[in-house]
Amino acid sequence: MAEVLMEAIGQEALTERLARHVEEGSLAHAMLLTGAPGRGGLALALTLARHLHCASSAASSKPCGTCPSCMQHDQLQHPDLHFTFPVAKPAGKDKALSSDQLDVWRQAVLELGPHFDMQDLRDRMSLGNKQPFISVHEAADILRRLSLTAHAGGWKVQIIWGAHMMRVDTANKLLKLLEEPPKKTLFILLADNTEALLGTIISRTQILTIPPISAGRISERLKAEGGEAEAIQDAVALCEGDLAQARRLIQRDSAEEFTMFIEWMRTCFARDGRKAAGIADQFHDLGRESQKAFLAYSLHLVRQCIVGNYGAASAVRLRSAERAFAEKFAPFIHHGNVHDMQSDLERAAREVAGNVYGRTVFLDLSMRMMELLHRPQ
Ligand SMILES: [Zn+2]
Repeated sequence: MAEVLMEAIGQEALTERLARHVEEGSLAHAMLLTGAPGRGGLALALTLARHLHCASSAASSKPCGTCPSCMQHDQLQHPDLHFTFPVAKPAGKDKALSSDQLDVWRQAVLELGPHFDMQDLRDRMSLGNKQPFISVHEAADILRRLSLTAHAGGWKVQIIWGAHMMRVDTANKLLKLLEEPPKKTLFILLADNTEALLGTIISRTQILTIPPISAGRISERLKAEGGEAEAIQDAVALCEGDLAQARRLIQRDSAEEFTMFIEWMRTCFARDGRKAAGIADQFHDLGRESQKAFLAYSLHLVRQCIVGNYGAASAVRLRSAERAFAEKFAPFIHHGNVHDMQSDLERAAREVAGNVYGRTVFLDLSMRMMELLHRPQ
């Protein structure tokens, strides 16, 4: 296994910019880093916190890595470094608090490195079907923590990861704190996007948009982690500058999904109801998470066909085997049916998420596909 990478790979410009803010003492008291977690927002936040806490930070453009404070950071155990992230209410408890899952969190960061995303964290928290969120109790916890004096007399850093999963009441409670923050307190909010955040929260933060990691840097990293050349190439093409996605793509073998998708489309085109029922059984047996993954994969392929169809071949993100199929399949997907196809697939995904019987969802969807594939251009 390659060594766990803690720095924000490919985000050198932002890393330097934040380091300069520390040196100049010009940090905003609340920052909002936006972009998919796999782009490295948490890595940036951790480096920034480490720099602020480092004993020799004043003399250096980066944390020393050897002082007691840096060593506490190595274990994510610095007493003035606080984490909040989405969690679900554990069975038998009446509050959903990150402090209950702090060990899982630390282990995730230390074992996976800071580029993991909600899906990785979910897997580790074994949430089942529960949706994680940032509860209002969490806001009360933050308030309590930050009103205490910093242990080391320096900065208190509160990282809020997955800030877009904050409930409205949580956000409202945090607002006051963002308006009048305790002295020497730094909030670092990390969010996939700003859409789900209250405007009042956004307006009180300095926003930094984290760009996708370059293909070259992702490819380099995957290679260091032992990936194979062809798999790396495919993952890089599909991951959109997101290291968490890239890693998942390289681990996931979508060969089965691909085979099933081809058979399904052929069956729908032939309007073979009996065969469609068989595939619906196969779909049903996948279980909910894999059903969702299959629908997401189908949506991805359909979208890629239409991109190819509109002549933007350079925007097509497909593996080589998929590309060969897409070229033959693309003519059957056009502006006369693609919109309905996408919304039907999305609706099916919502139904699966909402616990509708898999077989029923898939049969309905197949009937629609039979009609849509024959719709005139
Ligand atoms: Zn240090």
